[in-house]
Amino acid sequence: MPINQQILLDNRPMGEAAASNFMLVSSDTPELKEGQVLVHHHFLSLDPYMRGRMSESKSYAAPQPLGQVMQGGTAGEVIESRSPKFEPGDKVVGMGGWQQYSVVDVDKADQPGALRKVDTTHVPLSHYLGAVGMPGVTAWYGLVKIIEPKVGQTITVSAASGAVGSALGALAKARGCRVVGVAGGPDKCAYVVNELGFDDCIDYREHGNALSLSSALQDACPDGVDGHFENVGGMVLDAVLPRMNAFGSVALCGMIAGYDGKPVPLTQPSLILLSRLKIQGFIVSEHMEVWPEALKELGALVGSGKLRPRESVAHGLENAPEAFLGLLKGRNFGKQLVKLI
Ligand code: NDP
Repeated sequence: MPINQQILLDNRPMGEAAASNFMLVSSDTPELKEGQVLVHHHFLSLDPYMRGRMSESKSYAAPQPLGQVMQGGTAGEVIESRSPKFEPGDKVVGMGGWQQYSVVDVDKADQPGALRKVDTTHVPLSHYLGAVGMPGVTAWYGLVKIIEPKVGQTITVSAASGAVGSALGALAKARGCRVVGVAGGPDKCAYVVNELGFDDCIDYREHGNALSLSSALQDACPDGVDGHFENVGGMVLDAVLPRMNAFGSVALCGMIAGYDGKPVPLTQPSLILLSRLKIQGFIVSEHMEVWPEALKELGALVGSGKLRPRESVAHGLENAPEAFLGLLKGRNFGKQLVKLI
């Protein structure tokens, strides 16, 4: 059995996460028992939610235990099988964690995040960790089930060039909406408009405060905003709320601006009342019932070229911590992955 490189959570962050929170180790891969398969990971997904699990503060999920392999989504290939459900050569996605190989108990494969086969004929394997995976379904759920867009409405999204934001744009365009993104920097904004097909994108870094950003949003959204998909919090949300139309909806997906401990205050909560807004937080893994329908639409969008997701790829497991810390600072440009082979 192969030697397996793994990254463990060694200690919890005090304030900002740091490379010293992680530890790289090597271990033997155990022999397979009946009902188990050995998966060789080709890609590891790095996701903002991992920062929350590194801490012990209140959350919807249990903290990542210390001294254990960091949890995370993986895409790879079955290389040995003692289960009739999988054969060597099957391409699979699962929650293999920050390591090169995982041994998976296939009988538990009905649980959320458990191992499933994927078809790489039209969709590259890595996209099953992004647009045609958890981030894509996240966009789908927030848009379809919370915002409930109608043709001709205006939808805004923060972190628009990212894994979730890029999928959100394609899904909203497919529903006949005007879609306006907010992203950091001219390159990301150009990609959002030219490659992803958004109607407009505002570079929030050009705006020193929420008032200025809100004024730019007013220009980009002349009919106001009917639905907003929030990934960041803080200044962006403060800028969007004054632009929301009466009875608009906000899908509160993430508040990455605060994940490393910075406060993300909301300066005008009275706007929620004045505009009679619906604001709903959600966690995608609690809505497994929508995954098949969402993945079908997302797969078709990617397969047909209507959604061209971008990826930031770090190489080698040892570079996962730096890539993860970069994700928390907005250094990624598109879905952040680590290539492990
Ligand atoms: P992205 O690929 O969008 O990467 C994160 C992006 O956030 C950065 O590239 C950066 O883009 C942006 N960002 C804006 N402000 C900050 C800031 N202050 N610090 C750091 N980054 C910032 O990530 P994902 O698409 O994977 O995730 C997007 C959001 O969705 C996250 O908040 C995540 O937690 C959330 N999420 C929620 C889920 C749920 O079930 N509720 C499931 C999956 C994701 P820019 O340079 O444009 O600012």
